[in-house]
Amino acid sequence: MIDTHTHLDSTKFSDDIDEVIKRAVSVGVKKMYLPNVDDNSLVRMRNLQKRYPNYIELMLGLHPCDINSDWEKVIDRYDKIWKKNPSAFVAVGEIGLDLYWDKSNIDKQILALNRQLNWCLEYDKPFSMHVRDAWEPMMKVLRDRKSSQLRGVLHCFTGSLEIANELIDMGHYLGIGGVTTFKNSNLIKVISEIGLSHIVLETDSPYLAPVPHRGKRNESSYLFDIALYLSRVLGHTIEHIKQVTSENANHIFKK
Ligand SMILES: [Zn+2]
Repeated sequence: MIDTHTHLDSTKFSDDIDEVIKRAVSVGVKKMYLPNVDDNSLVRMRNLQKRYPNYIELMLGLHPCDINSDWEKVIDRYDKIWKKNPSAFVAVGEIGLDLYWDKSNIDKQILALNRQLNWCLEYDKPFSMHVRDAWEPMMKVLRDRKSSQLRGVLHCFTGSLEIANELIDMGHYLGIGGVTTFKNSNLIKVISEIGLSHIVLETDSPYLAPVPHRGKRNESSYLFDIALYLSRVLGHTIEHIKQVTSENANHIFKK
């Protein structure tokens, strides 16, 4: 299995990261993709990848919740890092729009998003996209930039069936994690409609742990619980879920 979105560099793992990675590997997680959020996470991610080069892949991007007054300088700096060594990263992420915490800077968020989407085209990389309370402006950005070259994962997908279908038509994939297993979630209905062809698995650790770990710190080994849940509810073997979602991830991340 491939955990396509996991913040293992989070300080929530600083005491036991070796155990966390060992547990993930023991349940069959072969790769863990780490999204960047800001300058601090980048340093920690790079250190972790040096220690686990076979398991850890990195993304580079500025998170929408970290768009501050100096965002242009940060993106200029990431621009140089991309230019220097594009093969160091599997994706542009974590980028996106978040109007839950702050609606006032939506213009800046959209400018930052568009600048970062340019890296996807320039370096032939997928995006890992965060969307919270922002489906309308997000769909506008993606429609305006629709092209066969632009591809990515809508991480922690929570949109409607209609949005899911439009994204799939554009060639994008949906990142499915712990939220799917929550009792009040409608997401499983969306997944049963669209099927597995554009689904990748993710934990978004340390956030949003799946049932039966809900409320605890999430970790990449819980990817197994997500796959198990999907296999039970959708009526496939867990092997089938693992195989299809891993193939999808390898396809979108060109691995
Ligand atoms: Zn994230």
